[in-house]
Amino acid sequence: MAKWTMTHFVLSAALGHALAYLATSVDVLVVGAGQAGMSAAYALRKMGLSVQILEATDHVGGRTRNVDVRTGQSDVETDDVIEIGGTWLSPEHSAALRLATELGIEVFNASFVTASEASNAQEPA
Ligand SMILES: Cc1cc2nc3c(=O)[nH]c(=O)nc-3n(C[C@H](O)[C@H](O)[C@H](O)COP(=O)(O)OP(=O)(O)OC[C@H]3O[C@@H](n4cnc5c(N)ncnc54)[C@H](O)[C@@H]3O)c2cc1C
Repeated sequence: MAKWTMTHFVLSAALGHALAYLATSVDVLVVGAGQAGMSAAYALRKMGLSVQILEATDHVGGRTRNVDVRTGQSDVETDDVIEIGGTWLSPEHSAALRLATELGIEVFNASFVTASEASNAQEPA
């Protein structure tokens, strides 16, 4: 088992103090700035509560990520993009679609088959 050094104790004490400070200065601490954490924080803020989000990485969005194919930069607003994480919403994702509308986030319709492919599709035997 790894031995705790003085650095570990100092860091954990500092983290404890930081969390205690945050816990007393905000109503809710949200862990993770993925879709769940960000939408929870948004809903809490709408209820009038103060919220602090703690994120372990250097980006928001969690597993919803993109890459600019020209520059190689991640998580940027660009038309030269490939998605490398959460991308598609189906009509059953009604809460996410409502949230996108509320936030003015544009969605577009896409189908994995063309209309003619769909009409030519054979029923399984
Ligand atoms: C390749 C791929 C394609 C996908 N395609 C689709 C799709 O088309 N449609 C769809 O609906 N879904 C898709 N998904 C799934 C979708 O991306 C996830 O369901 C969604 O992003 C999960 O969001 P979340 O907030 O629950 O979790 P996450 O996105 O995992 O966010 C959790 C966040 O919490 C942070 N975190 C974790 N632990 C800690 C900690 N202890 N302290 C601080 N921060 C912490 C993480 O760093 C992360 O940012 C896809 C996923 C992948 C990987």
